[in-house]
Amino acid sequence: MAIEEAFSPSDSVRDRLRVVLALRPLGLFSDIDGTLSAIAPTPDAATLLPGVADLLKQALATFDLVAAVSGRTAIDARAMVGLPGLLYIGNHGLEHLSEDDMTVHVRPEAEPWIRAINHVLASIQAPLTGRFPGLVIERKGVTATIHLRGVEHPKEAEDAVYKAVTDSASAGGLHVTRGKMVVELRPPLEIDKGVSIEGFVRARGLRGAFYLGDDQTDIDAFRTLRRLTADGVCQGVAVAVLHSEAPAHLAAEADMTLPSAEAVPGFLRWLLANTPAATG
Ligand SMILES: [Mg+2]
Repeated sequence: MAIEEAFSPSDSVRDRLRVVLALRPLGLFSDIDGTLSAIAPTPDAATLLPGVADLLKQALATFDLVAAVSGRTAIDARAMVGLPGLLYIGNHGLEHLSEDDMTVHVRPEAEPWIRAINHVLASIQAPLTGRFPGLVIERKGVTATIHLRGVEHPKEAEDAVYKAVTDSASAGGLHVTRGKMVVELRPPLEIDKGVSIEGFVRARGLRGAFYLGDDQTDIDAFRTLRRLTADGVCQGVAVAVLHSEAPAHLAAEADMTLPSAEAVPGFLRWLLANTPAATG
């Protein structure tokens, strides 16, 4: 069994973390894939890192809000984390599953786009899966993700897939974006993880908030926390989780970094051990 990496912050990071940990209400937001789980060959193969489920359960007793934020659907995020009591923000902020119910709330402005997404998928499915064996189309309601990780030469396939999806999606007015060996299809709405967490920070009156993430879409949340901190709405700490596939500028957008997803359990353990509620 792997030995958990202990978190040992520099003095300045430690001081900042303690300032935010003392604030209430306090929120803990975390991306899932590549942050609470190691990068896996397919979404289905991903599992939480050892200790994480237990740490999140402990966090529910310490933090006023614990949220898993994902590009997965809210239902899928809930199934993967497997814990009640968390807020599950899915589809990069387009929907959520609240802590106390099992109803998915799709943002009303996103709902009408589900038809357009289905239309594009119907037109690209046969040509793309025929041309690129191993390509997986994940239908997620208000968004869709085309996974290239299982394709023989994913980097080479990406340009062709991106072009094909863009050509088909542009007629419907949908947005196409690229991520880590994925091409994503989404409504043309200015809603991202940052917009979503800002809504919850304000609605719950959070005074402090942590956000952990490893990917391009998490940078929107990092920037939101920075702005909310500058505006005095709350004190935020953006934590970049680095790995070989993380965007090059991820660290520069964050307040602090962790060297890998494997370092996240040790970081969460440190937060729990250093909250005033836990120590006093
Ligand atoms: Mg991620």
